[in-house]
Amino acid sequence: MPKYKTYKPEWAPQNPGGAFASQVMTGVPGDALTQRQSAPQPPGLARLSADEYAEGILSRDRMVLARAITMIESNAPRHFETGQEIIRRILPHTGRSVRVGITGVPGAGKSTLIEALGNYLCDKGKKVAVLAVDPSSTVSRGSILGDKTRMETLSKRPEAFIRPSPSGGTLGGVTRKSRETILLCEAAGFDTILVETVGVGQSEITVRSMVDFFLVITIAGAGDELQGIKKGVIETADLILVNKADGDNIRRAQAASAEYEQVLHYLRPATEGWAAKAYACSALTGEGIPDIWDVVLDFMGQMKKSGLTDDRRRRQTIDWVRQMAEEHIRSIIASDPCVAARMSEIERGTLGGDLSPSMAAKSLIEAIEKALGTSP
Ligand code: GDP
Repeated sequence: MPKYKTYKPEWAPQNPGGAFASQVMTGVPGDALTQRQSAPQPPGLARLSADEYAEGILSRDRMVLARAITMIESNAPRHFETGQEIIRRILPHTGRSVRVGITGVPGAGKSTLIEALGNYLCDKGKKVAVLAVDPSSTVSRGSILGDKTRMETLSKRPEAFIRPSPSGGTLGGVTRKSRETILLCEAAGFDTILVETVGVGQSEITVRSMVDFFLVITIAGAGDELQGIKKGVIETADLILVNKADGDNIRRAQAASAEYEQVLHYLRPATEGWAAKAYACSALTGEGIPDIWDVVLDFMGQMKKSGLTDDRRRRQTIDWVRQMAEEHIRSIIASDPCVAARMSEIERGTLGGDLSPSMAAKSLIEAIEKALGTSP
């Protein structure tokens, strides 16, 4: 049995006092949804009932919101159940935000841009939640996106709420937690959700699947502009921003954005009915930052008229349900010792010529059905 340790989360206030009771667990493989044995419970989380959590969230109590997210992020099965009860209660109050995903390689300027955009939106009276999906946190507790020095002015504003990536578990586990955190933030009155991810592995595809609008931040590099960014990422973008268009770099950034604009013409749009755009901006000087929001509002207006946002959200929800079920089934199969033993036998039999591949597959399916408890 692995050992589960708890610790004060890094986002805990400096002098928390008695009211801040949250603890998070060190990373464990898997997620409460896929864990079959019960794990020890972190102390201090179960003091509120699901009703009290929901009430606190709906009355916009940030401390309760933060604790509810910690509950959602816990890998303990008991917290999973309370977390789901909270979600069930707040669900009718969700879905009323604009959800924007933001990706880019490290150093492209994501956090500087989110700070600038977030401040701009707060000045306009918006309530902004910034969440992160950090695939590196699935491997270690260290995280590329979660350190404290980022977004210093935004994090001090009462209209903003910044939450680092959940740590530990699989990308599927992190995805579930992030999606549910979006719902909690919406119920707590945040009307703009910015979900940040670093372009590593599958994380941008994952974030794309939980937002309405997807922003890719890049910078002008030497030589071929497209070298700096994976082609697959461009295909997910509703808007490409070439950041750091300031000082000596303005012309290069503008040339790069023109190049991206051209490439976008040849690609299938990430959102049907929307011609993805590219332009240059500077998160440092603020040049082009208000335009980002004009583009997002234009997009949301068009999508609303055609009903595509609602369609996309419905599809995203159903895909999410399927993914979770598939991941759960895969984890049962992967952890079942009888399936593993049968698998080695079958492999030997097939390679030794005693079993045809079709018979081998049939035999393996029987072992899997047994593990899933579905055999007659
Ligand atoms: P992230 O890793 O994508 O979050 O990138 P950061 O926001 O941490 O930015 C990386 C570095 O680029 C920092 O030193 C920033 O000050 C700098 N930077 C970010 N945006 C701009 C910009 O628009 N212009 C210039 N000149 N530097 C920028």
